[in-house]
Amino acid sequence: MTTIAVTDIGSLVTNDRSLGDGELGLRLGAALIIEDGKVAWVGDATQVPDADRRISVQGRTVIPGFVDSHAHLVFAGDRADEFEARINGVEYSAGGIRTTVAATRDSSDDELRSNTARLVAEMHASGITTFESKSGYALDVENESRSLRIAQQFTRETTFLGAHVVPSEYSGREDEYVSLVTGEMLRAAAPHAKWIDVFCDRGAFDVDQARAVLEAGIEAGLAPRIHANQLTDIGAVALAVELDCASADHLTHLTKADIEALSGSRTVATFLPGAEFSTRSAYPNAKALFEAGATVAIATDCNPGSSYTTSMPFCIAVAVREMGFSPERALMAATRGGAAALRRTDIGGLSLGMRADFAVLNAPSYIHLSYRPGVDLVDSTWVAGQNVYQR
Ligand SMILES: [Zn+2]
Repeated sequence: MTTIAVTDIGSLVTNDRSLGDGELGLRLGAALIIEDGKVAWVGDATQVPDADRRISVQGRTVIPGFVDSHAHLVFAGDRADEFEARINGVEYSAGGIRTTVAATRDSSDDELRSNTARLVAEMHASGITTFESKSGYALDVENESRSLRIAQQFTRETTFLGAHVVPSEYSGREDEYVSLVTGEMLRAAAPHAKWIDVFCDRGAFDVDQARAVLEAGIEAGLAPRIHANQLTDIGAVALAVELDCASADHLTHLTKADIEALSGSRTVATFLPGAEFSTRSAYPNAKALFEAGATVAIATDCNPGSSYTTSMPFCIAVAVREMGFSPERALMAATRGGAAALRRTDIGGLSLGMRADFAVLNAPSYIHLSYRPGVDLVDSTWVAGQNVYQR
């Protein structure tokens, strides 16, 4: 087996209190050893054991790779015109999704695959080492399953989101569409998905419809997660907690009862700062959730309508500036929080035995992720000890 020593780390974030200072397990002048793609040793750079290969990061910062627990990567076309109209004063609604649906249905497998590959490369360049990807831009039996098969070529965290919005051919027949999603479409999608998701909001699916979708998914062996409280609060968070969803995502509108429910549950509260930024919505504040002890994640929500970014550092900077996150909490949310939102314990930190997923930053500290907004700080990205991006 090959061992790699990563050494001369100026500042190392491990997310493991037993390996360094504070919640981030921070140590200066550090090194780590990777064996079989996993972290095998963490210590001082002056005491690094022999290894087959030695990589000096020359005083840079090393952080655990970002875990992006919410993204929509399989689609065609873009919606730059809609973005411009919205910035010029037109309100965002869930209906814009239908524009992407038409383009996605019309595109070839190769087109969808190469667009996904482009976005995955961008994610690696932003320090993301694990990402989830949803279907939901095809909304018919054949193409939802096709989108998931394509997503599976890039990640094992695939999510069936047939209940993203009601497609135009079903308008006025919403319950019939829910029957399709929970029946034939689910049967075609389930072999290619790990998760079931639903957009539970005004203009999308109500709580009863969302419950039917998630319960059918659970019955088919998928684990639930939910789009909750982006446009308004219709009770999606209570449903998420009731069904033990791994994550409730968006939370732009959050009540006291929601905060209590989330903090007493295993459901991760996932914030998507790119969505409020791009739709020019008021930002939610995560402080009450931290105080209540909830587990919090930050994800990109990369999608062509409401958050067309693959940059986790951008999302961190917005969360710190606008949403009540400290730099420390934002980094934790984008790494260990994301892993919790995917119910994964093998990623999200650099504890011994975890997968050696990390990003090297051209910066003396992780704080620069929010201190230097818009600056591309990622020097290289590594998944299971393999270099997937080099600047
Ligand atoms: Zn989404």
